[in-house]
Amino acid sequence: MLDYRRFKQINDLFASGKLEQARHLLMEMQSRCIALRDEMNMLKVRLQTFEDILYLSQNLYEEYGFYWLRTAGVKQGPFCAHCYESEGALIRLEKQHKVLLCPYCSTSYKSVVHAMPESVEPLAGRQARILPFAK
Ligand SMILES: [Zn+2]
Repeated sequence: MLDYRRFKQINDLFASGKLEQARHLLMEMQSRCIALRDEMNMLKVRLQTFEDILYLSQNLYEEYGFYWLRTAGVKQGPFCAHCYESEGALIRLEKQHKVLLCPYCSTSYKSVVHAMPESVEPLAGRQARILPFAK
């Protein structure tokens, strides 16, 4: 925690000509500010992680044996169940011939392709996209 009374102390030291003491106190304040900024940056990262986890818990769901993500009202997916359950990674499956294939773990899903609505089938030849969410 930053003690704001120190700024008045520094000012008083400068005003009374105690430059070396003022400089020393100023350097101490600088060091504390840097430490606080680092802590704030770390807390921002943690907050973003928790927001991502909350978002996933509210918008990720299982259907047809796959994971799907609802973003801005649009159904994204399907994502590889194996990758999500083993590593927490959302890997979009690619449709190749009559199967859905995971470009990361190479798991193929055959039996459920017919259950997918046409509008959400992944595009052939599309690059896999790894979303950096934790489970
Ligand atoms: Zn996979």
